[in-house]
Amino acid sequence: MHAERKDFSIQNLLMLLSSNYEFIFYVDFDTDEVVPYHFAGNSDIQQESARITYREMTDNFITCKMTGAERKEIENILKKDHLDRHLRAKKYYTYDFRCSGYDPERYFRIKIVNMDETDGLHHAVIGLANIDNEKHSRIDFYKSGRKILVIEDNEINREILTEILSDMYTVITAENGNEGFEILSEYAEDIAVIITNLEMPVYNGYEFLERFSSVRQYSAIPVLVVTTTNQTEAEIKCLQLGATDFIVKPYNREVVRNRVKSLARLKESSAMLNALEKDNLTGLYTKEFFIRYAQEKIDCNPDKKYCIVCSDIENFKVINDKYGLKTGDDILIYISDQIKKNFPGIIFGGRINGDIFAFLQETDEISYPDKETIEYISKHAPVISVSVKFGIYPAECGRSVQHMTDRAVMAINQIKNVYGKYVAVYDNKIREGLMKQQQIIDNMQDALEKRQFKVYYQPKHEISSDKTSGAEALVRWIHPVLGFMNPGLFIDIFEKNGFITQLDEYVWNEVCSSMARWRNSGIDIVPVSINVSRRDFEKDDLAEEIINLVDSYSLPHDYLHIEVTESAYSDNPKKIEKTIEKLHDAGFIIELDDFGTGYSSLAVLNSMKLDILKLDMSLIKQDISSSDRSALVFAIKLAQMLGLKTVAEGVENSEQCERVKSLGCDYIQGYFYSRPVPEEEFMESLKFN
Ligand code: C2E
Ligand code: CA
Ligand code: CA
Repeated sequence: MHAERKDFSIQNLLMLLSSNYEFIFYVDFDTDEVVPYHFAGNSDIQQESARITYREMTDNFITCKMTGAERKEIENILKKDHLDRHLRAKKYYTYDFRCSGYDPERYFRIKIVNMDETDGLHHAVIGLANIDNEKHSRIDFYKSGRKILVIEDNEINREILTEILSDMYTVITAENGNEGFEILSEYAEDIAVIITNLEMPVYNGYEFLERFSSVRQYSAIPVLVVTTTNQTEAEIKCLQLGATDFIVKPYNREVVRNRVKSLARLKESSAMLNALEKDNLTGLYTKEFFIRYAQEKIDCNPDKKYCIVCSDIENFKVINDKYGLKTGDDILIYISDQIKKNFPGIIFGGRINGDIFAFLQETDEISYPDKETIEYISKHAPVISVSVKFGIYPAECGRSVQHMTDRAVMAINQIKNVYGKYVAVYDNKIREGLMKQQQIIDNMQDALEKRQFKVYYQPKHEISSDKTSGAEALVRWIHPVLGFMNPGLFIDIFEKNGFITQLDEYVWNEVCSSMARWRNSGIDIVPVSINVSRRDFEKDDLAEEIINLVDSYSLPHDYLHIEVTESAYSDNPKKIEKTIEKLHDAGFIIELDDFGTGYSSLAVLNSMKLDILKLDMSLIKQDISSSDRSALVFAIKLAQMLGLKTVAEGVENSEQCERVKSLGCDYIQGYFYSRPVPEEEFMESLKFN
């Protein structure tokens, strides 16, 4: 009895409307008969038993809760001649209306579909839906869940696809490519799959694909193109334009669902890839992708000039500890933004690790912001005075970006903690320095086995007795090819790579065995101080190790002095305090080295069991002889108040010598009395002490 349209069956139509419309009416205008269907909430559509008239339908189902103007309006809309006029042009017609007869007011939607393909209106399907939720949560609707964008000029096809997919996805529809782009510009990140019709009167599928594939940020969204059978040529063209797959009309529910599902999964995995590509916090590329993209750019543009610019935030760990991770994060974001803004020609950047960023810069010559700008950036950071250092490597074609990035970071290391220096360009000097460093690392283990490390002794002169009362053991490296090396060349490197602990053990052992030898040869021995690196304190049993060593040579504990630096203390105060306490209690003399160079002097003095303060040579050099308010004066007074003895380091001339003597210093260690000398020489000097 129902009239059928060619492009969809009545069953299809009922099914598709049923997901959105509670009531559906099949209207035969000629006989004035209406078959009401009720959508029961499950997938079944129940046909109401009684047939009703068109008037009964409007009165009992539609206008019953309306009054006044509202009712008049909808009655007019539902008049046959009105529908006739409107449906002639459109074939379907949707109308949203408000019912103020309810409290709170409710919203309904009527959809009227003309079922005739000939002129005139004889048969229609009318759907009635409550759309309160949609009206109230339109925004949520578009913002939540995984979304499918359907671009289709034919409303019925849009509805069919919506019906097929709406239990799995939020379906957003657009009538043409233009509308599709509008939606994309807002929801691109949430859209899992795009389904687009090919033939559309405005902005057809080809045009859409062409523009779509030119937008890089959309590249991860798969596009399903709707075709009809036998469109091989069209399909090839679509694939060339970047389509991912096809579905054929008329739609097969399961085919559509499965195809969309597998493409959505594709999108998800590429989104995961995207997450791997970008650092969440700064939006910069991750290290791997930075390296890959920078390499591509450099290699593909041999006529252009690039630099790799790396940045490093000084003491970032301390900032994190002090101000918390959130502030640390804010600083990272701030710095990466500032670099993009202030370095000319920055193309993109990557987060290499932690607080180290790398940027690819296109520039004919090395260029970076001036000192004032960099200082301005540092002053306006989320916390005051964040200092950032930059290293620049002028890129060379054929070099790996990894290599260039490493070198730019190495350049930064040259100016770390150097006040007022912000930018270092990797050049030959740095290269030579780095090669030397590498040589040192390559040779260290072998040198230890071949006993190339020699302990030198620098006497400590006691002012009261005018005699040598001790010595500091200072290591030297005598290498057959590299020559004689002072510890300034290698200690930092060994502290970084941890080799220092092995070297120190070796030195301590050498010192003990020498002292035992001197004693056995009848010389009046003096205490020797050994340097203990910050890295040595990482060991849990450091105190026991030193005690056992000294005991194995049967040396009295107070013949070994332990030199520990203030900066080591700040690494891990609790652990160092404990180790020092053990050693102190076991009778070792504890000396605080380099006093006067750090910031935490007073805290250290309070919490460690110390015997001697070693006044750093910078204090001696700074001291303006006549002023009694100099740091040196203060340091000596402080030591005296705390009952600690003092050693003045780096005393080079008689003037300095007299000065420290007059201030009441106890010992002098410096070139004025003696440079560090080999063991034999030191032993000789002791004979005449
Ligand atoms: P430090 O512990 O502060 O040692 C004192 C440094 O000052 C020594 O440098 C010494 O030669 C130098 N010096 C002494 N008197 C004067 C002077 O009058 N004028 C000048 N300009 N310098 C003077 P050196 O031997 O080059 O050692 C440098 C640093 O290397 C040491 O500083 C110490 O921190 C470290 N070091 C040396 N040997 C060892 C070791 O066996 N183990 C560890 N962990 N560190 C060591
Ligand atoms: Ca020392
Ligand atoms: Ca020192």
